[in-house]
Amino acid sequence: MVLDPTVAPRVPRPTYVEIDLDQLTANYRAVEAAVAPAGMLPVVKAGAYGHGLVEAARLFEGLGPPGLAVAFLEEGVILREAGVTCPILVMGGLDIPQIPDFLHYRLTMTVSSEEASAAIEEAAAGLGVVARVHVKVDTGMGRMGVRPEGAAGLFDALLGSAHVKVEAVYSHLATADEPDPDQTFDQIATYRRVVSYFGDRGLPMPKLHLANSGAVLQHPGTYFDLVRPGLMLYGVYPTDAIPRTVDIGPVLTWRSTVVLSKPLPAGNPVSYGATWTPDRDTRIVVVPMGYGDGYPRLASNRGEVLIRGRRHPVAGRVCMDQFMVDAGPDTDVRVGDEVVIIGAQGEETITAGEVAAWARTIPYEILTGISSRVPRRYRLGPSVDSRGDQ
Ligand SMILES: *Cc1c(COP(=O)(O)O)cnc(C)c1O
Repeated sequence: MVLDPTVAPRVPRPTYVEIDLDQLTANYRAVEAAVAPAGMLPVVKAGAYGHGLVEAARLFEGLGPPGLAVAFLEEGVILREAGVTCPILVMGGLDIPQIPDFLHYRLTMTVSSEEASAAIEEAAAGLGVVARVHVKVDTGMGRMGVRPEGAAGLFDALLGSAHVKVEAVYSHLATADEPDPDQTFDQIATYRRVVSYFGDRGLPMPKLHLANSGAVLQHPGTYFDLVRPGLMLYGVYPTDAIPRTVDIGPVLTWRSTVVLSKPLPAGNPVSYGATWTPDRDTRIVVVPMGYGDGYPRLASNRGEVLIRGRRHPVAGRVCMDQFMVDAGPDTDVRVGDEVVIIGAQGEETITAGEVAAWARTIPYEILTGISSRVPRRYRLGPSVDSRGDQ
């Protein structure tokens, strides 16, 4: 078992996340087959969506993609220092003083402006190196990227820069996971129009990439040369409604352990604010994790967990370091029982999407919100229940 270096505890914690590396490989292969002949830049930003930046990147690198994608310089630096040698695209915005570090660590920059392009040329020329860049075009996301009307000027500037190599031109979709395809179709049309710059001038076409998970699942017209899936590699669909055109499975299981189980007579409130009071004698159990671990406080009085293969409701408010569960009056739940927060136990499963719904958010926020206080354990092969009696 390998522990994430960022959280490696000296003593075991009864709350942990287990990452199934075989499932991660299977998801990668499923996406690879679905998008072929396009290639893939697996997205490992935000600690690989909570799954462990270095572990996920090493695994993906071994599967042979043309590169990986992260959000920030610092994530790329961590990967380089961990020995990842493949191309790494940093998709986020560029802070000019960071440019020498991008060059030093051979990280691919995203360029969205002529100011950045000029600063990169100057820094690369000063160091006598050639900077690899992907140009980002804002075709409708309204975030990073040069506006379509400014793209030709930026391409002119970059092509006139001796120390810059434009490897790709890419864009990002704002509504790819939604049922209405109109904006996606508009963005594809804008993107095609912008990159016609190269064909019109008889220049070689840079690599093109546009698709996130939503687009991989429902817009094959976005595949171009490369796709950039994140969430789906971790086995989670962006929404419940999206067509499940690629067969993937969850990689992460979040577990804890009952640390106290006690009878609670009717009428006694539970947790801060006394927002929940049993109207019958019951048994309350304490789970040693809370919003300080990334379990959303909005799951208070709304969420459920699995114990002994059954769903049980969260009782009262989620605290920073613990929350309580109503195990019911006729229960044999006891100290030491496994609690599943996200994942399967017996016949039951709780998905990241379900937790997200309780918290009025999206599965992305739940997964990336699992804090560094929660140790990650990695395994190959089928799940072994941590307790034999489940
Ligand atoms: C996060 C991100 C992705 C991956 O998105 P998913 O919905 O997780 O597949 C792709 N491209 C960019 C620019 C991103 O920021």
